[in-house]
Amino acid sequence: MAGLTAAAWVARHGGRAVVVERAGTLGGSAALAGFVWTAPTLDVLRAVNPRGDSTLAAALVEGFPAGTEWIRSLGVECRPTVTVLRFGRGHQVDTNHYIGACAELLHAHGAEVLTGTQTRSLLLADGAVRGAECVLADGSTRRIEARWTLLATGGFQADPDLRAEHIHPRARAIELRSNPYSMGAGLRLGRSAGGTFGKDGAGFYGHLIPAGVALDNPAHFTDVTLYYSERCLLFNLGGERFVDETVGDHLTTLALLEQPEARGLLVADAAAYRSWMKGQYVEGIPAVNTFEICRRRGARAAVANDVDEFELIPEEWGYPGAKIRDAINALNLAARGGDALSPPREFDRRPLDEPPFYVIEAAPAITFTFGGLLIDRHARVRARDGDVVPGLLAAGADAGGLYHGAYAGGLAPALVFGLAAARTALAAEATR
Ligand SMILES: Cc1cc2nc3c(=O)[nH]c(=O)nc-3n(C[C@H](O)[C@H](O)[C@H](O)COP(=O)(O)OP(=O)(O)OC[C@H]3O[C@@H](n4cnc5c(N)ncnc54)[C@H](O)[C@@H]3O)c2cc1C
Repeated sequence: MAGLTAAAWVARHGGRAVVVERAGTLGGSAALAGFVWTAPTLDVLRAVNPRGDSTLAAALVEGFPAGTEWIRSLGVECRPTVTVLRFGRGHQVDTNHYIGACAELLHAHGAEVLTGTQTRSLLLADGAVRGAECVLADGSTRRIEARWTLLATGGFQADPDLRAEHIHPRARAIELRSNPYSMGAGLRLGRSAGGTFGKDGAGFYGHLIPAGVALDNPAHFTDVTLYYSERCLLFNLGGERFVDETVGDHLTTLALLEQPEARGLLVADAAAYRSWMKGQYVEGIPAVNTFEICRRRGARAAVANDVDEFELIPEEWGYPGAKIRDAINALNLAARGGDALSPPREFDRRPLDEPPFYVIEAAPAITFTFGGLLIDRHARVRARDGDVVPGLLAAGADAGGLYHGAYAGGLAPALVFGLAAARTALAAEATR
């Protein structure tokens, strides 16, 4: 998203660009995504993402309208505004149409697009980045000299060691819910040129999936994503709730990573099943029966006809069934009486008391990383001394600092900072 956006903008505005793509085809995770959205105002973004860099947050919110205008300018539809995750606003976009439109524009302007190509190193001269040395699909080496180089490899979620180092030791073993190529090449290259990483523990965007179910086919990612967890109760191996599940599945995912063995028992009642497990997550996404799909794919799942049946949770699952039964009864009692819940359930305080109960074991899966190369609002990579690395840009999930333990869209930052990178490169060109 970030790389193609930047290259297409540069090409349309009279610059020259070369796109280096490691995969055999274009699109990355963007090809799997559907909604370009973010927070409508800086205040809203600050409220949901208080630990994020506020300069980048402002640049994201301010740059969003121009980003969607750019998409439309390529003949790609941004559908009517929808609400995402309660606070966000955005549009459903056919990302494959957008990727194709960028590729066509590049082709029309004679820009090179090198697929199946790896970047071996950045070219450095006098502390500045001057391009990259790449290994092409046929194994030959190519030096690409450029005044500006944009790192946009989509993050480091596909590298278990980097996940363990920068997110959490337990993140090493979690399932990957993204394109398989985002292994931190941008981060490694950027650091080799003096770029700075920020920040450890910033977390990631991801979702709950059924524990033990391999995410081997991107076509099934959304079918087995437990978006509906916002309407459920989640218990850890100790039989305790540990997070306000109602705030959002993506945040519950981060919280579950911190729990023993990073697995938990997700419990819905019949009302949640009817309205959410079989329903639409966001307007425009086809409704599927997630529970049944997960069960067919081998998830640990069961239906309990009443709360007492929680005592029968198979021993080998490792959960204290009687304790969970008591916790559900206590929560329902408190919810009916209007008493405080702990942890709270800010956005859904109703009791979960309509049988049967749908139980599935859940685990976190990662889509993209929040930590990355620190950038300024013009997408220039920041150096350790607080200055910028001359000639080096980063955007999309390769850039860090914007989000910290919070999320307000992945396509939008790639779009906005991809465009910022393109403007930086072209503005510098114009003043030469
Ligand atoms: C199933 C799914 C659904 C999603 N839905 C949404 C959504 O609705 N809304 C939303 O905002 N976000 C969504 N996202 C997240 C969104 O797709 C990403 O945040 C966004 O694509 C990030 O843009 P990017 O340019 O950083 O990475 P990408 O779009 O992934 O692009 C990175 C590219 O770099 C390539 N690459 C990797 N390593 C190298 C290398 N060494 N050299 C050259 N190329 C390399 C990759 O192959 C890829 O093509 C979704 C993601 C997934 C997986």
